[in-house]
Amino acid sequence: MKKKKMEKAMGDKAVDGPSVYPNTDTEQLSGITPAESPIIVTGVESFTFHKILGEGSYGKVMLATHQACQKQLAVKMVKKRLLVKDSRDDVLIERQVLEMIRKSPFISRAFATFQSQDYVFYAMEYLSGGDLRGFITTYAPIPIPAIRFIAAELICGLQFLHSRGIIHRDIKSDNILLDNNGHLKIADFGLAVMNIFGNAKTTGWAGTLKYMAPEILLEKPYNTAVDWFSAGVVIYEMATGRYPFSEDEIEENIEKALINDDPAFPKELDPQVKAVIKGLLDKSPKSRQKFVDNIKDHPFFTEINWTEIEGGNKASPPFHLPPPPVMTSDAMKDVLSFSEATKPRMAKKNQNLFCGFTFADDGWKVVKQMQKAKTPNRRPKTPHHRSPTTESGGG
Ligand code: ADP
Ligand code: MG
Repeated sequence: MKKKKMEKAMGDKAVDGPSVYPNTDTEQLSGITPAESPIIVTGVESFTFHKILGEGSYGKVMLATHQACQKQLAVKMVKKRLLVKDSRDDVLIERQVLEMIRKSPFISRAFATFQSQDYVFYAMEYLSGGDLRGFITTYAPIPIPAIRFIAAELICGLQFLHSRGIIHRDIKSDNILLDNNGHLKIADFGLAVMNIFGNAKTTGWAGTLKYMAPEILLEKPYNTAVDWFSAGVVIYEMATGRYPFSEDEIEENIEKALINDDPAFPKELDPQVKAVIKGLLDKSPKSRQKFVDNIKDHPFFTEINWTEIEGGNKASPPFHLPPPPVMTSDAMKDVLSFSEATKPRMAKKNQNLFCGFTFADDGWKVVKQMQKAKTPNRRPKTPHHRSPTTESGGG
């Protein structure tokens, strides 16, 4: 982001209603193949919204149609104010991660990101199979071949992220989605950290308590092994339909159980899946990581053709999902119609944190609405730095 452009953006008066906060030239050109005519996004007005697909702690995700191209998408919207207030001081992290890893078949894909005065938006691939929480609620205990397949794709997705220095930090069944064929996509990078390579570690209380690795709870520096612990919880949930540790209402007791307790397994559970879960839920990050280093060779995965799985859509899931629900008409338009009623305006220094948010994938283009720029304001005083120790709370 060029400083000069940032000043201009800050000088523009963002209007109420669904207007787009001005982009930089770089942002407008990002990811565009000049010869093709791209799908253009000018803001929320480019979409018709149909229904809410899901809500997390931060975002609301809606099924939407891009009006010009009639493509169905999932649009995630997050209040900027919430991100700033909740000490999510690296407010661009999700957008940065999504841009960096958009080529993986195991990651929920963003086509474009844009912003308004009060919201950030992610126009994403619509994953009609819904999240794994819904899948588990409906079908658990999940048959072993389906667990094996989903676990195999989750392993590929996590290995992809980790090989790029990214720790997700909020792996849980709500953040793992299925496409219409039953292929897995990891979503929600709001708590991710980047640049964790080799022996590097990070710190900070981040995640969703029930899925958090002991080393985070003990406030030790940690690495990518934390995601594997969370994956162990998810696989346990698939296999049993239950949570592996104490479901006590008192958070302290959940925390103690995560640190000290070994989960109980149903007698009839397949011994190989049990061994995989045990390896992933190892309290020691070192031995957990050691286990993961050889996980693809574990007897539980003997039937898996890893080359096929890694190829994304090449392997067929051993289950069929029901067809996606018929789309509702515009009846919900009023309920969902987007308003920017937040007052008072966000402080300029906070608004500055969102500079550079806009992004467009190949074949997409995000353009600002024509607004006359006012005289540029002063240069923002402090550049934005992230401090991983302040993040908290999963979604
Ligand atoms: P938050 O950061 O608030 O947790 P998420 O990105 O996790 O938001 O999205 C919230 C929920 O919305 C998810 O748990 C899932 O049910 C649904 N969802 C998210 N992305 C998609 C998508 N691309 N397609 C379909 N549903 C989605
Ligand atoms: Mg979430």
